[in-house]
This record gives sequence, structure tokens and C-alpha cells, in this order.
Amino acid sequence: MSIATLDTLRHVCAMCGGSCQGVNVSLSSQEELTQVLAQAEQLGISDPAPKGVLRRVHGRCVFLGDDALCRIHGAWGISAKPKVCQQYPMIATRVGDETRVGLDPGCFHSVKSWQTGPEVPGGSLMVSVSKQPEALLPHEERVMAVLEQAEGIEQALAMLVPGELEGFLGRWIQTLQEVDLADLLADPDTSPSLRVSLGPLAQTMPGWSAIPGPPELSDNARAFALHAAKRMVWLRLCPKIPSPAVVALLSLGGAMACGWTNTDDAAFGQALAGWMRAIRAPAVLGRLLPSPQSLQTLVEG
Ligand code: SF4
Repeated sequence: MSIATLDTLRHVCAMCGGSCQGVNVSLSSQEELTQVLAQAEQLGISDPAPKGVLRRVHGRCVFLGDDALCRIHGAWGISAKPKVCQQYPMIATRVGDETRVGLDPGCFHSVKSWQTGPEVPGGSLMVSVSKQPEALLPHEERVMAVLEQAEGIEQALAMLVPGELEGFLGRWIQTLQEVDLADLLADPDTSPSLRVSLGPLAQTMPGWSAIPGPPELSDNARAFALHAAKRMVWLRLCPKIPSPAVVALLSLGGAMACGWTNTDDAAFGQALAGWMRAIRAPAVLGRLLPSPQSLQTLVEG
């Protein structure tokens, strides 16, 4: 088995607690479940892992403290946390004989450290590896080649959609407006981190009556957006979307929308991370692309 990375992995944890919200943390073994039950008892937390998945309260992991820090980590150190929590934001995906390792672009502060942070060893602590089908490889290679060649978000989109980019962007804005992101974010089970990161987009979006023009983003933010789209495709982070091209379109389209709303690097990175998480959620996907026909209409007009 070979280990592959897209490039050097760099990361600094900002200890924001954002990744401990809105996700299902599955425990990897009976031993881990026993440990979590004992930790919960000592911390005065009841029913921490129904069906082997950490319970959430209003979208937050039941172990996440009010200070946005993990209470298990605080009491017993990092090695006492569930393995998948120790691994995150490192993602490992097995395709055939290759194990692909990379950093989840759904990490809210990745934009700050993805190029300048300390190097993270590619093969470190891989306890959670998802296995994905090889059948998509030829299609995926074509999409990755586009993302490699493109010099920016707009160029990548233009290479992926037939016809004029402007036509696609008009339809994209209409699609986003129909999703009613504000309504989704108002759901009590939506994580606070998603509400904060995507709140500005949800507020701005209904006011778009024309294509806002090129996002006014820094070179770092633009490069990050393209790289984040590559990670979404290559690490197979949207297994519910069978087409790598659609994953790339939703990632890049989201980057445009986040860039129209947030021009500051940190705010853009946070919004894009929220978007990259949102498109994995069935509730969001179901509204974005409710049918194959809606996808065809979005792409082809
Ligand atoms: S156990 Fe700790 S690190 Fe894992 S999701 Fe919960 S709060 Fe976060």
C-alpha cells in the first residue's frame, strides 16, 4: 500500500472548536467506547455516545466546553481523545492500493497555515481510512487535470462548464438563492460554527440581482480556494456526489459566492470551510441539487 499526498501538508490548530461541531464522530472500537463512557462519567456527562457516535447538543459535541476546548483533552491530554479526533483534520482515503492523505478544507483556519504552517507527516496517526471506489478514477483524473492547469477559480469553472461562464454564474446565483441558506442555518441542530462562517453569505445572497463580478480576494485566498477544491475531489470528501466534476463545481461555485461576500482572508477561509462542510450535508445537497434535472439545468442552462 502506498501513501500519497497532493503536496506538503502544513497545519496549525487554532483550537477554535469548530471541527467539534456539526459532525458525527464515530468511535472506532469497543475499547474506545468503554474509555469514552468512563471519561463522561468522570466529567458528569450522561449518555455520551448513543450507538457509538458522540452525542451532539445544538450541533456541538457533548464534550466541547463553553471555552470551545475539548474537555477530554483538557482533563487527560490529546492521546485520551477518540482516535478520529486526534487525527482530524488529517483525512485518509483509500482508492485501490493507494492511501491518499490530506487536510480537510473544512478546517476553519486552514487558510492561515496551509502554506506557512509546520509540516505534518503524511503517514501520521491514520486510524480512520475510508475506502472509495476505483471506478471513478478516469473521470477524477480529468477533473484534477483541469484544477491543476487552471490559474484561478474562474478559469477552472470556465473549463468545467459548457458555454459562457457568465451564464453558469447567473444560474448558480439563482440556485443559491433558492436554497434559502438562512433558513437552513436557523435550524437548532445547525452547528454554531456553520452559522458564524456562512451567516454573512446567507445575509448577502438574497440581495444579488446581478453577477457581483470577480471576487476581490488576495492571491493567497485565491490559491487556497483552488487547492481546497482539489482536496475535495481527490480526498473524495463528498461521497454522496458520484461525479468528481460536480464536486469541483460546487466547491468552486461556493468559493465564488464566499468571495463575493468576504474579501478578508480569514473571513473568506472560514466561510469557504463552512461551505465545504455544508455541501457534504444531505440537507444542503438536497436543496442545492434536488434532482438530476436540476443539475443539468444548472450546468447547461
Ligand atoms: S471528543 Fe473532543 S475533540 Fe472530539 S469532537 Fe468532541 S470535543 Fe472535539
